[in-house]
Amino acid sequence: MKTLRLILGDQLNHQHSWFKESSADHLYVMMEMGQELTYTTHHIQKVVAFFMAMRQFKTHLQSQGHQVIYIRLDSLENTQSLTENLLHIIRDKAITKFEYQLPDEYRLDKQLNGFCEKLSIPSEAFDTEHFLSSRTALDEFFEGKKQLLMESFYRMMRKKHQVLMDGDLPAGGKWNYDHENRKKMPKGMQIPAPKQFSRDVTDVVELLKKQNVQTIGRIYAKNFGWPTNKQESLELLEYFIKVCLPDFGTYQDAMTTSGWSLFHSRISFSLNVKLINPKEVISQVESCWHKNPDFAPLSAIEGFIRQILGWREYMRGIYWKHMPDYAKTNFLDHSRKLPAWFWTGKTKMKCLSHAIEQSLDHAYAHHIQRLMVTGNFALLAGIHPDEVDEWYLGIYIDAIEWVEITNTRGMSQFADGGIVATKPYVSSANYLHKMSHYCSQCHYNHKEKLGDKACPFNSLYWDFIDRNRKLLSGNPRMSMIYRVWDKNSSESQNQIIEQAAYYLNQLEQL
Ligand code: FAD
Repeated sequence: MKTLRLILGDQLNHQHSWFKESSADHLYVMMEMGQELTYTTHHIQKVVAFFMAMRQFKTHLQSQGHQVIYIRLDSLENTQSLTENLLHIIRDKAITKFEYQLPDEYRLDKQLNGFCEKLSIPSEAFDTEHFLSSRTALDEFFEGKKQLLMESFYRMMRKKHQVLMDGDLPAGGKWNYDHENRKKMPKGMQIPAPKQFSRDVTDVVELLKKQNVQTIGRIYAKNFGWPTNKQESLELLEYFIKVCLPDFGTYQDAMTTSGWSLFHSRISFSLNVKLINPKEVISQVESCWHKNPDFAPLSAIEGFIRQILGWREYMRGIYWKHMPDYAKTNFLDHSRKLPAWFWTGKTKMKCLSHAIEQSLDHAYAHHIQRLMVTGNFALLAGIHPDEVDEWYLGIYIDAIEWVEITNTRGMSQFADGGIVATKPYVSSANYLHKMSHYCSQCHYNHKEKLGDKACPFNSLYWDFIDRNRKLLSGNPRMSMIYRVWDKNSSESQNQIIEQAAYYLNQLEQL
């Protein structure tokens, strides 16, 4: 009896029950595959991080006595296809059973289901033992309900997992402290340096070049900074808790050109490939706060925990409830192409050039840059969600479809018509100026709606509101905005719409 067990690149869970004991009957397989490098064009740092993490995980498993076949990208036996590689191993090693962990991506789930249906040997799928809720938990929780409010799901998760609870009540008396988390960063404020790990990844970069793998973004191969094993992931978490968490809440939505990750944790890659477990992140943060409630405000603790226990689990539930249809949603019927400067950062709008340049340099932008800078612009400009999706799926180190598409189509582009967001996340320059240091360094004037120097966000915002009246004016959360717009004379409305049309006709030149 020999069982083949597949470990995908985002299934690097040290604590998985598969690895409790080693056995001569279990053969593990991990592969670097062309099929995973071509479904979109990835940032080079994302590919390198995956390969480095997988290679180290393989070494860890071997050191624990497990038998592992590791197929490198340039291995002569590598067919570059998941199922072809599996078939070869099953034949060569006289495998009698195939086992895998449930993939997080619909695409791979479908591929493996189809593969197992045709296999002549038995197969079995296992849970990844990573998430705090099952694939179907959200669907079951909201059964029969029209609105799938994240906040209700999050409160259920707090109670169920007894996180930040005081008996039946939320710690501190409130479930959500978000209103305390919206401060602009004072000019000249000291921002902690992002914790970096220094690893020479030249050989992987050379391998990708040799294999002609198309990538985007930049990398400094002699000094790669992302955590790619469990130890480093835990060190990053520790650094975040000690150094960044006290200010995480207050400046969660702030944007500045003087830093790139500010007080954010940067643990999304480690979490998404399962090097660290959401439960251990949440309990470390919570226990630090219990030991010393003065080390960080409750608004920071709660705000951070909500992202992981709330948003992350919620997005996964939305994904499994709505895929595959979710990937085709385009509620606002958008059709424009993404301007080419999304791949270069070469635009005169400072907010966009900074957020994009930083994404190309680090494969990272924090949430508000993704939502209120790049996402906001794409939504106002009416870019087709397929184009927006492709960009987000490629550029970020943490981009895996289940969490990328729900954030992009749902939270950011309102393409799902309001399943995730109760209203579109759009803003004029007002918000960007309020929350960032960008506008003072920009070619455009954030106060102007009309003229050559007018910030494009202003006219595009009102044009978005105007052109989507039929679809959005019935939304109670939008009614105030329509009232404000309707107070303008038709002459002034026309001028703004003309200005927007002028900008929309020359998106590439902005
Ligand atoms: P922190 O700000 O320190 O937050 C801590 C953790 O909370 C994150 O690591 C993440 O695991 C979780 N989290 C926070 N916000 C969300 C959210 N909205 N949804 C799910 N989890 C969340 N996140 C991804 O992991 N992968 C993606 O591909 C991705 N694409 C996004 C695309 C768009 C358009 C937007 C608006 C958001 C996207 N996010 C994505 C969510 C969020 O922006 C990132 O998780 C976060 O910026 C990662 O940086 P961090 O680890 O420093 O996060």
